[in-house]
Amino acid sequence: MPPEIYKAWSRTVAMLALLLALAALGGALAGHAWEALAVAALLVIGWHYWRLQRVLERLTARRRQPLPTRALGRGRGAWSELERLLHRSQVETRGRKTRLLEMLRAYRAVAAALPDAVVVVERNSQRVMWFNEAGTSMLGLQYPAALGAPLAECLKPLSLSHWLAAGRHAEPLEVTSPGGGATLSLKLIPYSESLWLLVARDVTRLLRLERMRRDFVANVSHELRTPLTVLHGYLDMMDDEEDPERQPMIREMQQQSQRMAQLVEDLLTLSRLESAEQLPGEDRIAMAAMLDTLRREAAALGQGRHRIRIEDQAGVDLWGGARELHSAFSNLVSNAVRHTGNEGELVIRWRHGEGGEVVLEVVDSGYGIAPAHLPRLTERFYRVSASRSRESGGTGLGLAIVKHALHLHQARLEIRSEVGVGSTFSCHFGAARVRSRESAGTAPAKPETRT
Ligand code: ADP
Repeated sequence: MPPEIYKAWSRTVAMLALLLALAALGGALAGHAWEALAVAALLVIGWHYWRLQRVLERLTARRRQPLPTRALGRGRGAWSELERLLHRSQVETRGRKTRLLEMLRAYRAVAAALPDAVVVVERNSQRVMWFNEAGTSMLGLQYPAALGAPLAECLKPLSLSHWLAAGRHAEPLEVTSPGGGATLSLKLIPYSESLWLLVARDVTRLLRLERMRRDFVANVSHELRTPLTVLHGYLDMMDDEEDPERQPMIREMQQQSQRMAQLVEDLLTLSRLESAEQLPGEDRIAMAAMLDTLRREAAALGQGRHRIRIEDQAGVDLWGGARELHSAFSNLVSNAVRHTGNEGELVIRWRHGEGGEVVLEVVDSGYGIAPAHLPRLTERFYRVSASRSRESGGTGLGLAIVKHALHLHQARLEIRSEVGVGSTFSCHFGAARVRSRESAGTAPAKPETRT
């Protein structure tokens, strides 16, 4: 107990003892000691009840009650001390409340001023709890009608019920704004047990810039094609074996212009894949023929430096874009050849995966890739070793092409690699893309292995 409280309490007890002693003494002198003591005790009890009532009043009062000063008769006993402590705690609580309210108002003002639309949604009922000004201008939410209304209904023109049903697993979604003219990127963020945040951002400008970039790259690449063909033609004409002095220069120029041509082709393929929202056409891909083509390409590129094995374990065909898939697979095969030393082994495997998936796997016993590089490999122009990539004729765009081609097939690329041991690049296709060979009339009876 703090000393001042102990002092106040002792003073009250001392007063009580003094009062009773005086009453007993006075009563004894008058010959009625017990009666005087009883009356004094009753008075003391009555006084205590009165003080108790004052404390209860202070506790339950809606308005803040001032604390009487010492001059205005505030006592020094335990009750006065209790009143002082209560008053102090009330003042502190009020101060804290005011500060919290100010903070809350400041946060709301920040959220309200955000250029992105922000909507707080109750998770279970998916009703709108709050939204900022941009929620009205971008999403068309009307205040106060939208408050408490189901979000899917408020945003009916956007048909979001499917997306909202996915809840926390919902991928960011791009939609045209209810007023039209703008493209919005919607994101659902669960930020507490019971509340979600719907954030809508205007990405119209971003998309326009992205389209401009794609068009620019595609146009430049396209324009470079013809001059490169002309250069090739003249260089071929100049490649004169009777002029040994100039021959190394001409050969170097031929190599470099071929690299440029390959780069232009890769850039064009990439921009075609990037800008396609879906495959231009889908067909049955005869995988036995595809594997054979890949084997021939690997053998031609490797010029007999590697052992190449084909494992056709799945015995099924694939449904998709022939051009895009060939582009993806041959890039993986070309990488395996280029990043594997002499006498290395290459396996092109077509197998069943988990949950009805089918997997095309290109395995090599090459240089391998350190784990730190793996997440960035599919970025365009990302190379682990720029010099090795260039020397081997790489453009740095191969895996970016693979990623986009697979994306159009709702497929994914998995990369496993160990430095000095080799790498495995596997393309995983969903069950919906599998076609049995029997129905095409080209069914190999057993899994097949060719070298
Ligand atoms: P590049 O034309 O340089 O091969 P890619 O986009 O195809 O470009 O590949 C990016 C980088 O990934 C390559 O530069 C190389 O460092 C690494 N890489 C790709 N495939 C393999 C592989 N099979 N083995 C080792 N490294 C690889």
